Amino acid sequence: MRPIQMVDLKSQYHALKSEIDTAVINVLESSAFINGKPVQDFSNNLANYLGVKHVLPCANGTDALQIALMALGLQPGDEVITPSFTFIATAEVIALLHFKPVFVDVDKKTFCMDPESVKNAITPKTKAIVPVHLYGQVANMEEIMAIADAHDIPVVEDCAQAIGADYTYKNGTTKKAGTIGKFGATSFFPSKNLGGYGDGGAIFTDDDQLAAKVKMISAHGANKRYYHEVVGVNSRLDTIQAAILDIKLGHLDTYIANRRRAADYYDQAFASCEKITTPFRAADNLHVFHQYTIQLENVDRDALIAHLQGKGIPAMIYYPVPAHKQQMFKDFGGMQFELPNTDWLSTRVVSLPMHTELDNEQLEYITSSILEFVNK
Ligand SMILES: *Cc1c(COP(=O)(O)O)cnc(C)c1O
Repeated sequence: MRPIQMVDLKSQYHALKSEIDTAVINVLESSAFINGKPVQDFSNNLANYLGVKHVLPCANGTDALQIALMALGLQPGDEVITPSFTFIATAEVIALLHFKPVFVDVDKKTFCMDPESVKNAITPKTKAIVPVHLYGQVANMEEIMAIADAHDIPVVEDCAQAIGADYTYKNGTTKKAGTIGKFGATSFFPSKNLGGYGDGGAIFTDDDQLAAKVKMISAHGANKRYYHEVVGVNSRLDTIQAAILDIKLGHLDTYIANRRRAADYYDQAFASCEKITTPFRAADNLHVFHQYTIQLENVDRDALIAHLQGKGIPAMIYYPVPAHKQQMFKDFGGMQFELPNTDWLSTRVVSLPMHTELDNEQLEYITSSILEFVNK
């Protein structure tokens, strides 16, 4: 059996090695390391895949969130609603820009922003809402957009974990994650569902004016070189990364299918185990399983993780400390938020190995090792 990893980037590379090596060498030969042709090609191809007008590449997913928020023209002290149960970047950029993160609770089943909690958190100072499509499934966007639109508040979707996921409205319309709000912000960090071989990110929008603003902010606030209109940042996707990502984009649907197949295997293995809650799949939504995250009931989580570690099986807690309880937010009133579902989940979740190269032998070994511990 091949060793089990949370993410197996090496096997995935080897499956595409000659194609990727050629693309990288072509960039080296062209020496167009910054803004070379593959950057535009990849952006166009991704825009086509997503069905969105503009894909604006940048240096990483954190920058994508930051630049999108900068483009909305908020004022210091403005409130931005976001879940606490997320990777820290989502909330960090809000505070970095001197806006106030207002943490809301998540739905216990989907792990994503609870629309009721959003409704209760809106004040006249609310100037943006940032839902996170955690673990690869889109939040309840139909309700979140209805609340946002009723108050004319822009939505920035953090789709770093959900690229390629489909969201279906009650009327049957389907959209890709990140193309529903004013902006989508994603990451091409190597372990993400569409990952480069280094850092990368992108912002999606259908709005021409906002796209121009994002482009300007990402390039030191300049439309015309050396003429700077606003204070911006330097955030670019390297040509080498774009060339690699363009090849991997062609395999994204296969990667998603492989992840979903592994998720189905886990689902079936744990179906009759009452101490394990498998991930809920919202009706008509295509979950892309960035993570496969179970909830434990009456199981010592640390002991389970240690047991698995002893058998060569990694397992991770995403995320052990929710954002509102992080030291970094103590001056932002983080601790004052009461988020029972977030607190509940952070003590019970465990993410299992999930990637595009898991085979049945590995899955059988992982699931039987877990059940052996849980049922003992
Ligand atoms: C990975 C991730 C980010 C940040 O992406 P980077 O490319 O690492 O900056 C933001 N939000 C979520 C939910 C993520 O998983």
